Amino acid sequence: MPASEIPDTQRRSPASTGAMTVDLVTAREILDSRGLPTVEVAIGVGGEIAIASVPSGKSTGKREALERRDKDAHRYGGKGVLGAVGAVNGEIAATLLGHPLPDREALDRRLCELDGTPNKSRLGANAILAVSLAAARIRARIAGVPLYESLGGPGARLLPVPCFNVINGGAHAPNELAFQEFMLVPAGFDTYGEALRAGAETYHALAKLLADAGLSTAVGDEGGFAPAIRHPTDALDWIVRAIEAANYKPGVEIFIALDPAASAFFSKGKYHFAGSRYESEEMTDLYAEWMARYPIVSIEDGFAEDDVHGWKHVTERLGARVQIVGDDIFVSNPDRIRWAIGERIANAVLLKPNQIGTVSEIFDTTAVAESADYHLMMSHRSGETDDSFIADLAVALGTGQIKAGAPARGERLAKYNQLLRIEDSLGSRAQFAGIRTFRRPG
Ligand code: PGA
Ligand code: ZN
Repeated sequence: MPASEIPDTQRRSPASTGAMTVDLVTAREILDSRGLPTVEVAIGVGGEIAIASVPSGKSTGKREALERRDKDAHRYGGKGVLGAVGAVNGEIAATLLGHPLPDREALDRRLCELDGTPNKSRLGANAILAVSLAAARIRARIAGVPLYESLGGPGARLLPVPCFNVINGGAHAPNELAFQEFMLVPAGFDTYGEALRAGAETYHALAKLLADAGLSTAVGDEGGFAPAIRHPTDALDWIVRAIEAANYKPGVEIFIALDPAASAFFSKGKYHFAGSRYESEEMTDLYAEWMARYPIVSIEDGFAEDDVHGWKHVTERLGARVQIVGDDIFVSNPDRIRWAIGERIANAVLLKPNQIGTVSEIFDTTAVAESADYHLMMSHRSGETDDSFIADLAVALGTGQIKAGAPARGERLAKYNQLLRIEDSLGSRAQFAGIRTFRRPG
């Protein structure tokens, strides 16, 4: 079996010790789930090889680490990543080859120092993250332990609640639905495997309901349906019907999470969607009204990244009752989370490794968030590869929640299926986060 196909959950005898040095660092340009270029890196140490690749977002926060693109209009419309690939094959390889592989923090620090910019714009966050991920994976291989255990230690055993984005809108779909993501949250189950099954069965029930109503079951970028509906409550109604049609109980077994990605429909101080305009305080009223009608447990980016007033207002009014997740506003950055804690903004953090650029910085972000009891949701990007790293990372960090799109399309299932393998490998030690991961303390 090629090294790239060894499941990360496999436990083996550690590689023989001795002076093991890095003997391979190589990058290539591959394509992501949208057919756009991204970076893949292979690292070799003492005969072992590990491969990792990075995803790419479309509805990005302004303060994300820089995804380096070639801007050569003759290749992939300017989206080539040969510059980032060259940074790995050149400067980064030159510092690593022939030396022992540094530990996680030392390597990630060295990559940041080598880059030398605050947002990884010189080498590219896509180049740096791919190296950080591949290095983490090979450390686990060498130690002979599963990736989640290598990253999270022997206590890592919490399987996250999967949040399935089953209706797509916004930048991820060509329909008129301004809100980007409507997620099924099967939190009322005892195991991850049961939650996955409930999510997939409900997704299939939704497909049938939409088709019976003459609506399209073509999918958006994250594998969720993109029917020709316009109002967010239409999507919520379809989801509740689908939960019931699949014979599950809304609000008991399956809940709902939203990611409006509101920066995309915010302009001149107002939110514009479904033919209406709303002030930010009116948005809070709307969310409160929907919370009374639908089993909503989480609202991500319900406000634009620059609408600080809206964020504070919703946190004050609804923060004790619902999870309020910052994505674009925090960009997985520990400094932004520190600021948010001081300002009392949100109560949960979305974790996207490529927003910040190294595995160690995601650990830093997690520690800052946990210091203020903020919840954590691990996240994919809308442009993905078949790399399942975030599944292991979610277990390593004990986030309790993960979103990786619909229970459909290979690059989404790569994460959800890896969590099944992890649950199996933990056996009776496995714990499922369940609904308590969404509840606020007190
Ligand atoms: P993106 O969207 O990956 O296109 O940025 C995901 C999200 O907003 O959570
Ligand atoms: Zn988001």
